[in-house]
Amino acid sequence: MGPFSLNILDSLNQIQSEFDAYQKRYFPERKPEFFCLELNGEAGELANAEKKLWKGKKVEQFLLEDEAADVFIALMNYSNSRQINLSGAVKEKLLKIEEKRSELAAIRKEY
Ligand SMILES: [Mg+2]
Repeated sequence: MGPFSLNILDSLNQIQSEFDAYQKRYFPERKPEFFCLELNGEAGELANAEKKLWKGKKVEQFLLEDEAADVFIALMNYSNSRQINLSGAVKEKLLKIEEKRSELAAIRKEY
């Protein structure tokens, strides 16, 4: 695919595997439903921080980073618990997005 280097996603495989090994070695086994709830809970915390910003309140950058990290980690754990190959799934999705984007670009429309 042109504008996005899909090969870079191979490193996502390594990252996901590393999280899997870490989780299995040091934490109790949990069901995918647990990780899905955790993922959405963390996404909610990130959304709350954005809501504060939107309302003009101060939110420290490190708090956004902390919540974004929680979302990422929860997504890794959820994906591992459901045997989802994120690298492959993201590649497939990016191919679809790029196909659609280039179709629209050809008729001068934004995605
Ligand atoms: Mg959090």
